[in-house]
Order: sequence, then structure tokens, then C-alpha cells
Amino acid sequence: MASVVNENGCGGATEPTQPREEPDRGAARWGPQHAGARELASLYSPGKRCQEWISVILCFSLMAFNFIHLLANFNLGHTWSILLGIVAGILTADFASGLVHWGADTWGSVDLPIFGKAFIRPFREHHIDPTAITRHDFIETNGDNCMLTIVPLANMAFNVLTLSPAEIYHIYPWYCYLFALAIFVTLTNQIHKWSHTYFGLPRWVVFLQDCHIILPRKHHRIHHVSPHETYFCITTGWLNYPLEKLGFWRTLEDLIQSVTGEKPRADDMKWAHKVK
Ligand SMILES: [Zn+2]
Ligand SMILES: [Zn+2]
Repeated sequence: MASVVNENGCGGATEPTQPREEPDRGAARWGPQHAGARELASLYSPGKRCQEWISVILCFSLMAFNFIHLLANFNLGHTWSILLGIVAGILTADFASGLVHWGADTWGSVDLPIFGKAFIRPFREHHIDPTAITRHDFIETNGDNCMLTIVPLANMAFNVLTLSPAEIYHIYPWYCYLFALAIFVTLTNQIHKWSHTYFGLPRWVVFLQDCHIILPRKHHRIHHVSPHETYFCITTGWLNYPLEKLGFWRTLEDLIQSVTGEKPRADDMKWAHKVK
């Protein structure tokens, strides 16, 4: 099993490890020139771009609306339950990021109708060209995660408009949990992008990484060791160590393989070995 992780000295991101079998002399083994990476990048379509734009606009509008209403209904009596709600929301977002990332890395294929090209493609591209994410703009980086939180945020907005003040007071800590969860789910890929960016990051981002409030760069490198089988949580990374100690992902993979007969990461390996 390959186990070397190199840092890109000039561009600013971690590199994946080499596939175990050398594909071809002269063929790029990772990065934007890798044959698989070029093909995957070409599958990014205008329709997909449109879906991302709509998702970003709706999500951030709803987020601002809910934030203003949460502030307007703030009550000091809830301080501890608010803090608890926020921490629980962040932990849930970290676990969800791990689950989705693990699912997309480990199972399915780019060849699946619609879903494959739209949602599995970026995960395959990321393993063979980890620097690509640093070249994605705000819309491409955050579009899919914004789409995930639109419905819960819209539901929250509807409730704050229709519930009585007494009902809002009662449910307030739960909404803080949901709002923290929605914010961290929405920002997961932005945080992930920052974990691959080695130059030009704002100081406050580096500070949050150094305090491990968001995914630190060094921490995320562990995932980029081929065959990409651990440290899937990419929001804060708080759950990576405990889940690894528990053998959580391995157990889940063994279970799924025993039921379906599917081999974990088969499609990921196929793209890593692509030479033309
Ligand atoms: Zn991955
Ligand atoms: Zn990554």
C-alpha cells in the first residue's frame, strides 16, 4: 500500500500518492495533466453550473433571513442550551460530511445516469487532481452543499414566520442546532478547499485551522494517502480519529460488501489508473 504524501512545493495543495501500479511511462500520475483528471474536468456542464448558481443564491438568502430572525428572538436564558446546540450541530455536520464523502469515494460510479456525472465526478477528480479544488470558484466549490441545505433552511424560515413568540422561545435551542448544522454543511467544501490551499489564505482562516475549529491542512493530508480509505470527515475533522479507532468505515464497508458483493473504491481505482 502506498503511503507517501507529498506537499506540492509550488502550487499549494497536497498531492495524492501514486497508484500502486505505474500506469505508463510519461503519463501524468496525478494533477491536471492526468488523463482521468482531464476527462473528469471536461464533464463539468453548463446545466450543472446553473444548478449551482441557483443553489448558492437561494441558500445564502435563506441563511441571512434565518440569522436575522434568530438574533431578533435571542434570549439570555437559553445561553447553555444554545452553546450545546451549536456544538452538536457542528459535530453532526462533521459526521454527515464523512458519511457523504465516504459514500461517494467508496461506492457508485461516474457512469451512473445523471447522478454520476453531477455528484460522484468531483470526488473522483479530487483524488487524482487535489489541486483542482483550489482553482474552482466560489460557485463550483459551494453549489452542491448549498443545494443540500435549501429545504431545511426554507422550512425554518417558514416556521419563524408562522409560529407564535412563545412557540419560538420553546423551540429556540433546537433551531440553533439546526442553524449551526446548516451553516457547517453549507461551508464544508469551502473549508475543504482551504485545507488544500497553502498560499494567500486570510489570517483568520489559518487561525481557525490552527485552533482545529475547521479542518486543518495537515490533518486532511491523512485522507489523501492512497487508497483514500480513512479520515473522510472534512468539516472540522473532529470525528476522524475516534471513527478510525472504532474501525467505523471498515466495518461499514465489510458489511456492504458482504451483502452486495461490490468492492469498495473500485471506480476510484479505475480513474486513478486511467492513462488516456
Ligand atoms: Zn476523498
Ligand atoms: Zn481533499
